[in-house]
Amino acid sequence: MDSNASLKEIGRTLEKASRIIIFPHVNPDGDALGSAAALCFAMRKAGKEAWVLMEEPVPEYLSFMDTEYFTEDLSRARGRYVSVCVDCGEEKRFPKRAESFRRGETTICIDHHSTSGKCGDLYYIDEDEAATAQIIYELLKEMGIPLDRREAEALYVGICTDTGSFKYSNTTARTHRIAAELFERNIDHNSISVALYQSVDEKRLRLRGRILETMELFSEGRGAVACLTDEALKELSASPDDGEGAVEMLRDIKGVELAAFLKEKEEGVRVSMRAKSRGGVSEIASKFGGGGHAKAAGCTLQMHMEEARAVIIKEMEDYLEKSR
Ligand code: AMP
Ligand code: MN
Ligand code: MN
Repeated sequence: MDSNASLKEIGRTLEKASRIIIFPHVNPDGDALGSAAALCFAMRKAGKEAWVLMEEPVPEYLSFMDTEYFTEDLSRARGRYVSVCVDCGEEKRFPKRAESFRRGETTICIDHHSTSGKCGDLYYIDEDEAATAQIIYELLKEMGIPLDRREAEALYVGICTDTGSFKYSNTTARTHRIAAELFERNIDHNSISVALYQSVDEKRLRLRGRILETMELFSEGRGAVACLTDEALKELSASPDDGEGAVEMLRDIKGVELAAFLKEKEEGVRVSMRAKSRGGVSEIASKFGGGGHAKAAGCTLQMHMEEARAVIIKEMEDYLEKSR
C-alpha cells in the first residue's frame, strides 16, 4: 500500500469538483477501461461533467463496452477540472495526455501497480487489490454513490480481466464478495463472458496459429516465448492488437513458469510477460523501463524483433536458473 490520501479524501475532492477528466493507461485493458467508465458514470450521476480521455481507440476486443463518455478530444480538458489517472501511476503510461493530466487543479492517481511512480497530488496505490476496479468500487461506496447496472458492468469487466476470471493468485475472498454485489445489481455476466472470451474472430484464431509456430520453449520447458511478426500481420490483414491473449496461451502450457509474447508496434517491440505460480516478471519489465505486477508485466524494447527475443529469453533463463 502506497498512498498519501485516503479514499475519503479523494472522494471529498471529487465531490467538490464540477469537471472531472479520467485518464486510463495506453494500450488500455479491461481494468483500465472498466475503472475509468465506472468512475465516469458515477460522476455524471452526481451531476458533474466527466470524460474519459483516451489517446487511441478502444481495442476491438473491448469494443462491446459502454464508452459513451470516452473521447480523444484533448480540448475536453479545458478550464478548471480535476484529473484522475486510473490503473496507472506514471506519465509515461499516458504520454500524449500527460500535459492535460498535469493541468488539472488537483491531480489524483488510483492504481494497484507495485511499480507505479505515484504521480498526482493525491495518490492511492494498493497492490493488494486484484484490480483498480476494486478500488473504484470502494471509492464509490465511500462517496455514498449507489451502483447501478451500468457502473457494475464496467467494474465487472475490470475484475474479470485482471483476475483471469477469478483464476489468478490475486483473487481474494473480497474479490468474490464484490463480484457478488455486482451480480446483485443485475449485471448481464453471461453476455460479458461471451463478449470477452467467446467472441474470438476467425482472423485472430488464425493469427494465434501463426504465433504458435514461432513458439520456443527454454530452460527445460519452464520458459516459453513467441512473437507476432509483421509478415504474419500482413498476410492475415491483422493488427498487433489481434495478438491479445497470446501470452496467456503460452503461460497455460504445462510446466511453463514464465512466458513472454513479443509484437512489433510503432513505438518498438512490446513485450507482454506472465508468471504462473512461483516466479515474477515485474523485475524484468522494470529493468527495461516497463512495469506491472509480479505475475503480469510489460515493457517496450527499442530493438529489432530477433534481438528483443534473445534478450528476453536470456533474462528469463537467468531468472529461472536463480529461482531453481
Ligand atoms: P499486458 O501484458 O500488456 O497485459 O500488461 C501486463 C501488466 O503490466 C498490466 O497490468 C499493465 O498495466 C502492466 N504494464 C504493461 N506494460 C507496462 C509498461 N510499459 N509500464 C508499466 N506497466 C506496464
Ligand atoms: Mn491495466
Ligand atoms: Mn489493473
